[in-house]
Amino acid sequence: MEYLPLFVRVAGARCVLVGGGEVAHRRLTTLLRAGARVTVVAPNVIDDVRALCRGEVALVERRFEPNDVIGAMLVVVATDDAAVNRDVHAAAVRHGILINTVDDAASSTAIFPSIIDRDPVIVAVSTGGRSPTLARRVRTWIEARLPAHFTHAAAALGRWRAQVGDRIGDVGSQRRFWDALLDDPSAQTIYEGDAVRADALIARRLMQWGESSTGFVSLVGAGPGDPALLTLKALQCLERADVVFYDNLVSKGVLDLARRDARRVYVGKRRAFHAVRQESINAMLIDAARAGECVVRLKGGDPFIFGRGGEEIETLAQHGIPFEVVPGITAALGCASYAHIPLTHRDWAQSVRFVTGNLTGDRVNLDWPELAKPDQTLVIYMGLRGLPEICRELVAHGMDPQTPAALVARGTLPGQQVIVSSLGELAEAVRDADPHGPTTVIVGRVVSLRSRLDAVASETVGRAR
Ligand code: SAH
Repeated sequence: MEYLPLFVRVAGARCVLVGGGEVAHRRLTTLLRAGARVTVVAPNVIDDVRALCRGEVALVERRFEPNDVIGAMLVVVATDDAAVNRDVHAAAVRHGILINTVDDAASSTAIFPSIIDRDPVIVAVSTGGRSPTLARRVRTWIEARLPAHFTHAAAALGRWRAQVGDRIGDVGSQRRFWDALLDDPSAQTIYEGDAVRADALIARRLMQWGESSTGFVSLVGAGPGDPALLTLKALQCLERADVVFYDNLVSKGVLDLARRDARRVYVGKRRAFHAVRQESINAMLIDAARAGECVVRLKGGDPFIFGRGGEEIETLAQHGIPFEVVPGITAALGCASYAHIPLTHRDWAQSVRFVTGNLTGDRVNLDWPELAKPDQTLVIYMGLRGLPEICRELVAHGMDPQTPAALVARGTLPGQQVIVSSLGELAEAVRDADPHGPTTVIVGRVVSLRSRLDAVASETVGRAR
């Protein structure tokens, strides 16, 4: 972190602004909004600046002199004369005063962020002076998602802050109280500005709070890897989690979205060994929830597809722990989309089957005659090790060895690899390519659509760039 984000009270404090042009005018407006007592130093000023130079604003119409900075809390320089900018910077630094040089982060100890002003909520965005355009885009992105009226909500929550603190004590529990309050649909009242109704709601919630101090488990689908494929609900769960239990298939990008000080506990299971046995995972979830924590159980893809999500919530239910399930994009869908392979097709595949190619002992036990039927797409999870046998069995049960087949490795992640071949030759092609990471196999005529779609898709990407 190159700059310390800090909100500074400048009301009544002396700030020096060097420069009298349009840029200086913009800075002057911002400083005055925050209540600063500004001295403008410039030999020439535009009318807009002059118009503001009254009351708390003093105008010194001459060139800058180093002693001008003395006694200031903040100095802002907005001239197009590099030598003047340098002198001002040097003078401020010598006196230990914060200095902002407009459009020159290297000569600034303070920078003006891009701001969203929903008084009293202020969001400030900075890119460390690297790209105002990027900062502006981030601001627009956030702005579109923020409720318009914070004033009432901030006032209501502010009125109750001390009382909630006294009543609940523990800071983590306080945070859970506020989150639960605002997550509830009835929270709309708090934004609407009827103080009596807002206070009644908060009082009621506070009274009820002690009655159930059990935490809550969210079983959340993390999707196949690309963090952009998370659902909004999954993101909300991650943002308020006290603890996140995650598998080895959960990508780092997704895990990074969890609240910064949430505990992250790895409970992954790999093929051959179980890092943490299922029973101990269940026990950990229950213990955390009983301790009143907001628990997220994060699983790759969708929790209900080859994820043993059902078993985990069964145990929670038996122990009376409240839970919710948040679906995720399963590997089949992520891989198919990112590899440009539609899973159904009007003429070629009227159904799609998700199967597991896991070995039991050293065999893959599947209903081969059913799977070998035409006009369907097969998506095989965990099929890498058993791939030679899977392909052999399908052909032995009547599937055409020329049927197009693909293997997608690290689907949706950087370095995604797609190996396209035919059923008869896929196992060998995969052995040669030696892919890394999780893999999903897709078998069916739909795979042949990839080459057509892929050509157009990459052209589009090329043009967009
Ligand atoms: N619940 C998960 C599946 C868990 S089983 C889901 O809905 O996706 C684990 C298998 O999922 C892996 O062996 C692999 O076959 C598949 N898989 C998960 N992530 C993948 C990815 N990014 N690319 C390809 N396959 C993936």
